[in-house]
Amino acid sequence: MNILDGKATSKAIQFEIAEEVIERVSNGFKKPHLAAVLIGVDGASQTYVNSKVKACERCGFDSTLVQRPADVTEAEVLQIVDDLNNNDSIDGFIVQLPLPKHINEQNIVNAIAEDKDVDGFHPASVGKMVLNLPTFLPATPYGIMQLLERYNVPTEGKHALVIGRSHIVGSPMSILLSKNANPGNCTVTLAHSRTKNLKEFTKNADIIVVALGIPEFLKGDMVKDGAVVIDVGITRVEDDSLPKGYSIKGDVAYDEVAPKCSFITPVPGGVGPMTIASLLKNTLLAAEGKPA
Ligand code: NAD
Repeated sequence: MNILDGKATSKAIQFEIAEEVIERVSNGFKKPHLAAVLIGVDGASQTYVNSKVKACERCGFDSTLVQRPADVTEAEVLQIVDDLNNNDSIDGFIVQLPLPKHINEQNIVNAIAEDKDVDGFHPASVGKMVLNLPTFLPATPYGIMQLLERYNVPTEGKHALVIGRSHIVGSPMSILLSKNANPGNCTVTLAHSRTKNLKEFTKNADIIVVALGIPEFLKGDMVKDGAVVIDVGITRVEDDSLPKGYSIKGDVAYDEVAPKCSFITPVPGGVGPMTIASLLKNTLLAAEGKPA
C-alpha cells in the first residue's frame, strides 16, 4: 500500500511556484496577487481561507482578505466582486463557499470575471473544462489529478467510480478522469445519493474518489484488493477529549480500507493540501495571463 502524500506533494508544488515567483519578480513583473472573500464566521470556512492566505505568503504572492458579516446583502457582495474584477492589482480571487442562505451563490459566481475565476466555478470555466479548452480547473479535482500524475498512478482503461456529484468536486472529477489524457482515459461511473446497490460499483472499481461528506462511509468490505482510493471528505466530528473539541474525519474508514489499497490518500494530509496548491497554481497562471 502506497500513501498518496498530499501534504508533501503540495509542499513540493508550492516550492516550485515560489521559485517561479522569484524569477518573475527578478524579471520586473509584479508578484501574483490572490484575493479571498469571506462572508460570515463559519469556523471551517475561516480555517480554509486562513490556510490559503498563509500559502500565498509562503509562495511570495500578495494576498488580500475581504471579510463581511453574515448579514451582508447580495447586492453588497456583487459590488465587492465588481470591485475585484476591476482592480488591476488583483490577478485572481475566490468567494469562499458556502454563502449565507439569503445570498444566491450562482449569482455571485456568475459575476466573477472569467480571467480572474481561479476557483474555476464560473459557467464559462466549467464549459471550457468540458470542451477540453484551456481554463482554470476547479482546485480540488485539479489537485487530485496532480496527485495521480506525480505518483504515476495508472489510470488508462481503469474503471473509476466517483461518489458524489457536487459542482465543485464530484461532477468535475468525473469529467477530468474521463478525458483523453494522462492521468485520465478512465471509464467513469458517477454515483450519488439516488444510486442503488452502491456496493456493487465500489467492489468493481479500480479507482474510487469519495466526496460525500459522510465520515468513514467507505468500509473495507466495499473495496477490492489493489484499488486506488481518494478521500475528499472533511467533516468535523465533535471530540471533547481533544483541545480543539473536534477531530477531522474523511469519508473512508481508513484503517479497514488502506490495507487493501494500492494507493490511498490520508485525511488530513491528502486532498486538502492539494486543493491549496492548485489554487496557487491557478493564480500564478492568472498572473501570467494564461489559464491552464
Ligand atoms: P456536497 O454536499 O455538495 O455533495 C455531496 C454529494 O454526495 C451529493 O452529490 C450527494 O448526491 C452524494 N451523496 C450523499 N449521500 C450519498 C450516499 N449515501 N451515497 C452516494 N452518494 C451520496 O459535497 P461536496 O461539496 O462535494 O463535499 C464533499 C465532501 O468533501 C465534504 O466533506 C467536504 O467538506 C469535502 N471537501 C473537501 C475538499 C478538500 O479540499 N479536501 C474540497 C471540497 C469539499
